[in-house]
Amino acid sequence: MDRSAAKVRIDELKSILWENSRRYYVDNAPAISDFEYDRLMRELEELEQSFPEFLTPDSPTQRVGSDIDAPVSGNAESASRDNFVKRPHKYPMLSLGNTYSIAEIEEFAARADKTLGTEFSYCCELKFDGTAICLTYRDGKLVQALTRGDGVNGDDVTENVRHISNIPSTLHGDFPAEFEIRGEILMPYEAFDKLNREREDNEEAPFANPRNAASGSLKLTDPEEVSHRGLMCTLYHIPAQSISFDTHSQALDAAASWGLPVSDKRRLCHGIEEIRQYIDYWDGARKELPFATDGIVIKINELTSQRSLGYTAKSPRWAVAYKFKAEQALTPILSVSYQVGRTGAVTPVANLAPVQLSGTVVRRATLVNEDQMRMLDIHIGDWVYVEKGGEIIPKITSVEPSKRSAGALPEPFPTVCPDCGTPLVRAEDEAKAFCPNQDGCPMQIKGRIIHFMSRKAMNILAGDATVEQLYNLDMVKTAADLYDLGKSRLMMLEGWKERSAERFLSSLDASRQVPFERVLYALGIRYVGESTAREIARHFGDVDSIAAASVEDLLQVKDVGEVIARSVYDYFIDVRHSIEIQRLRAHGLKFSIENDAQPSSDVLKGKTIVISGNFSVSRDDLKQIIERNGGKNSGSVSGSTSFLLAGTKPGPEKLRKCESLGIPVLSEDEFRDRYKLLPEVVGNTEEPSLFAL
Ligand code: NAD
Repeated sequence: MDRSAAKVRIDELKSILWENSRRYYVDNAPAISDFEYDRLMRELEELEQSFPEFLTPDSPTQRVGSDIDAPVSGNAESASRDNFVKRPHKYPMLSLGNTYSIAEIEEFAARADKTLGTEFSYCCELKFDGTAICLTYRDGKLVQALTRGDGVNGDDVTENVRHISNIPSTLHGDFPAEFEIRGEILMPYEAFDKLNREREDNEEAPFANPRNAASGSLKLTDPEEVSHRGLMCTLYHIPAQSISFDTHSQALDAAASWGLPVSDKRRLCHGIEEIRQYIDYWDGARKELPFATDGIVIKINELTSQRSLGYTAKSPRWAVAYKFKAEQALTPILSVSYQVGRTGAVTPVANLAPVQLSGTVVRRATLVNEDQMRMLDIHIGDWVYVEKGGEIIPKITSVEPSKRSAGALPEPFPTVCPDCGTPLVRAEDEAKAFCPNQDGCPMQIKGRIIHFMSRKAMNILAGDATVEQLYNLDMVKTAADLYDLGKSRLMMLEGWKERSAERFLSSLDASRQVPFERVLYALGIRYVGESTAREIARHFGDVDSIAAASVEDLLQVKDVGEVIARSVYDYFIDVRHSIEIQRLRAHGLKFSIENDAQPSSDVLKGKTIVISGNFSVSRDDLKQIIERNGGKNSGSVSGSTSFLLAGTKPGPEKLRKCESLGIPVLSEDEFRDRYKLLPEVVGNTEEPSLFAL
């Protein structure tokens, strides 16, 4: 490449990397895969080495990616973030050199051998895939927590960190008077799945992976809310300057003895062969861990050797990360559909040629929103790489440019609602385009009814096709219309028999017993997911008090911030909603909390139960049932698990682990029959989902 072409490419790479770094660290919404990002970074490094005259101090190769920025529009999490106080790090917080190649790990070891010329060992650790944190303890008390920020200054998130349950506020034992310790804030898969389910219910863009979810949660403005995100911390580094140990592993052992959460998965290795064994082992075993890891970190263990190797501008010379490449599949996009949700939000979904990925066949993947489509630069007929972000939702991470046909046009994002033709609107602070035709857009109306009937809401047994049929025949336009349906009318419809009509009506009847908190959730108020509905219902006790509440009153509810409070307030001042609630109330639905204690027993006493998959009751309800009846819930299968309670689509890893440990697996029906704790279910409870990918 000649000089001028190199300059053009260097500038181009810098701007692509800056843009993606902002999306990753600030918006928590990466548009390309880590592998792709690292490949572009590597290309830039090589060009800068060949043309050093173009190397500038602001190059992404010379700086750690920064999570400090002004809030960015379009992302509910970042928009809700306030500016945290910035504080300087005592010692810079750097990144790590990384590679996807074992040969480069061998080169790292050979270089260390040559430079150090003495005996030394390696401490191999998991590379936890979360967001970095630096804690300061003074006199055994947690006094400060800073994010990495730009490496020099970090955001002060001390109050939020105090709400992470495994970070001790007070230490015990023989700790130094003052020291810093660094580590990672993680969101375990279970908490991540729960958060994303709630976001999907609210038609908010799901987080791409647990790392982004952890980082977004750490920057929430309400510390109380952080405690509900299920974050955890693992610590892996005490800056050598602040302690007097001989080795890194001694320092970590000591930290563990002071009560700090330090991983026990590290191992001392002597030479490349042992490093290779550690990598091989964890490449497989990490899939059983309840949280995400993206590689292995190899650190020289002796602190004197660390000091003599020192640092580059961006990373220590005494450590390197070996990164695992996420499992990917390459497949063509057959078409893009645009789904209109119950709130009117338009979501592009790629229909893919079916492809195997991590044990399942992927046929569809969300393209999230228009910005994401533009960022990925999706053209008609493109071949794309698909990854599974945090195990559940397949995600398109990049396009394979070599497979694009000449003259292919960019995939156009619709300007009008694909269902009703109303021009779409997109507010400045929204990431999604919306169809504003709430009362006339069939997809929105049907979406609201489907949501109302869903298992976690009113649990009315009927699929999307039934809603479609009833809607098309003008029999049901709102949830309240469902309760006006009678047996003889239903039996006149195509495909209905006496038995199906009776089943449907009896599940409608049963829905009159659904507790108020779920009725509130079923109303489909924007941003009010299952847990928020529960908090609001418990706080106010009945619907009239909620309807009379001001935004300020609503802000008093746990977990309710400005956006949710405003949404609830706006819902209840709309007269159409008051009429609907009056009708539902007249049909006998519960609109106040009943304080009758739920049945409890000790039939599950001594049993540790792991639940996995979908059930006829919500997972939260199931967990409560287990606890009320003496059982203990656990997120992961281990030797102490009594049994796995498996609904439909249980996690394959959990099933495999049960098989290898000989742990029994009970289906929902077996559990119902054996313990008599679940209500009887009529008919098929399989709930069709927008994201049944
Ligand atoms: P990194 O995540 O590759 O590695 C450094 C970080 O690893 C440390 O800061 C620390 O937080 C963490 N870590 C986890 N376990 C550790 C352990 N046991 N010991 C020490 N550190 C440990 O580096 P980074 O600077 O945070 O991020 C750069 C990487 O982020 C890139 O290589 C890329 O993969 C990814 N990235 C992706 C995009 C994208 O658009 N997909 C954009 C920017 C960055």
